Amino acid sequence: AVVYLNGERVDYADARVSVEDRGFQFGDGLYEVVRVYGGRFFYLNRHLKRLQKGAEEIYMELDFGLDRLRDVCKKAVVESGFKDASVYIQVTRGVAPRQHAFPEKSSCTWVVIVRQAKPQPDEFYENGVKVITVPDERWTRCNIKTVQLIANCIAKEKAKRAGAYEAVFHRGGIVTEGSSSNLFIVKDRKLFTHPANNLILHGITRSVVLEIAEKLGFDVVEEAFSLDRLFDADEAFVTGTMTEVMPIVKVDGKMIGDGVPGEMTRDIMREFRKLTETVDE
Ligand code: PLP
Repeated sequence: AVVYLNGERVDYADARVSVEDRGFQFGDGLYEVVRVYGGRFFYLNRHLKRLQKGAEEIYMELDFGLDRLRDVCKKAVVESGFKDASVYIQVTRGVAPRQHAFPEKSSCTWVVIVRQAKPQPDEFYENGVKVITVPDERWTRCNIKTVQLIANCIAKEKAKRAGAYEAVFHRGGIVTEGSSSNLFIVKDRKLFTHPANNLILHGITRSVVLEIAEKLGFDVVEEAFSLDRLFDADEAFVTGTMTEVMPIVKVDGKMIGDGVPGEMTRDIMREFRKLTETVDE
């Protein structure tokens, strides 16, 4: 892996932060995961924009500057030599004696880690995956991509123990999103997904899928729906930077549609694949 810590290249083994870093003590930080295909960034600017918005939400000034972060990301990918890579970006409010209220003076800790991408197995995309549903036990500002991910981690662990690919959250029976993905269903040839409000992360892949759907002339309804609608869907899929567009064929052991990836899902997957071969921004 190639690691940059506060703008400087460091050896992986030397890449350390303070025990008084607020990211470590409070989860007081944000992150992004960006995908690189064939040496081309896949919507890096959308990720940086989301990071900036998240920073504003938590009153954190990105004191190093987004342009510098963008430059470091690009440099690190080139230096890694990886054509297909994941770029992990983490920013925290920095180091200060432990006090809940924000330090008057601190500078951000910021990290960029580039790794070779480990794509999901082809058979997952070909045959679809199973998911389980779990109560959404997160706070109500899920639009902020904070590093406080314990509820997401517990949900993913439950999925893993159930032999499922993903855990889908529901808040009082209303489906929100996956533990690290957004969820779409298809019913009567219409696409449904939770509106981009405070209860879900506004996924970059979600936004790309909405654009694909528009291009394909699919009707899209950004409306909250219940668990019953999920079980009763004709098709379902989750989206995410590393997940891409992943068809779902079973929810809590119950078959979705015919138990194979749906037609509209496959159309979207095909268009998504095309974008990964061309997008360079
Ligand atoms: N929802 C949650 C909770 C996530 O953690 C993620 C990604 O990690 C997503 C959705 C998908 O977002 P993106 O498409 O920007 O990767």
